[in-house]
Amino acid sequence: MKHPVPAQNRCQYCGEYYTPYIRTASVQKSCGKVACRKKHKREIHKLWISRNPNCYRGWYGKVKKWLAAHPGYLKRYRAAHPEYVHKDNAGHRRRKQKMKRFRADIRDGLLRRRIMKIQTLKGADIQETLNLKVDGIIGIMGG
Ligand SMILES: [Zn+2]
Repeated sequence: MKHPVPAQNRCQYCGEYYTPYIRTASVQKSCGKVACRKKHKREIHKLWISRNPNCYRGWYGKVKKWLAAHPGYLKRYRAAHPEYVHKDNAGHRRRKQKMKRFRADIRDGLLRRRIMKIQTLKGADIQETLNLKVDGIIGIMGG
């Protein structure tokens, strides 16, 4: 008896057609190449994290205890795995840049709010209004 062959699907990641594995044909998303499987795994893991934001909370305490019991482990590991160190440092740089952009956005927002506050200042007369606005501008420039 010949087994039925499922219809070909298009891989979401590389765009190539593939014949899905018969038992998972209805849910299979990628063609099975390592790069595509990794992309899919990363995507569903991100989804999992967004749905379960506390799933890794409290893990570092265990790691910290283990590292304390095994002094010098990380130093030896990093010396033996330069490709890991390179990848890790790149990640650090990327996260640092992201935080820098995030902080710059907050800073810009605060400055905008202070400027809007100065624009809406009103004194008893035009002279007092101008004095208040100049004081506000000097305040911003002074930091
Ligand atoms: Zn693919």
